[in-house]
Amino acid sequence: MSDCIFCRIVAGEIPAKEIARTADAVAFHDLNPQAPVHVLVVPATHVANAAGTDTDAGERIMGRTVRLAVQVAKELGLAESGYRLVMNTGADGGQSVGHLHVHLLGGRRMTWPPG
Ligand code: AMP
Repeated sequence: MSDCIFCRIVAGEIPAKEIARTADAVAFHDLNPQAPVHVLVVPATHVANAAGTDTDAGERIMGRTVRLAVQVAKELGLAESGYRLVMNTGADGGQSVGHLHVHLLGGRRMTWPPG
């Protein structure tokens, strides 16, 4: 989608601090980090959010996106200390960008419940 900021990052039309890329997903640093490590992992294919992945194709997109998040967490040395993966979904979920993304947060102890 030409008006989607994350599609434009995937296409290389908007700069981002990219960390990793596969054929199916891209990982880059969040512009407004909420933790010492705050990475976004987005699928290369445009899907609005988790609610749009309830299909076989969506399952593959979700699986490959989460898989890259797990790989990046390992590469950044978070596997042992732990980390949080978040997918804000829709208005009440706090989603502000309408392209599925996994937040990878780490480097500090997270609190619960979330705000
Ligand atoms: P959410 O509120 O879950 O939709 O998260 C969207 C995230 O995208 C926020 O944490 C923003 O800081 C981040 N963000 C928005 N635009 C960019 C961008 N151009 N590059 C990197 N991160 C971005």
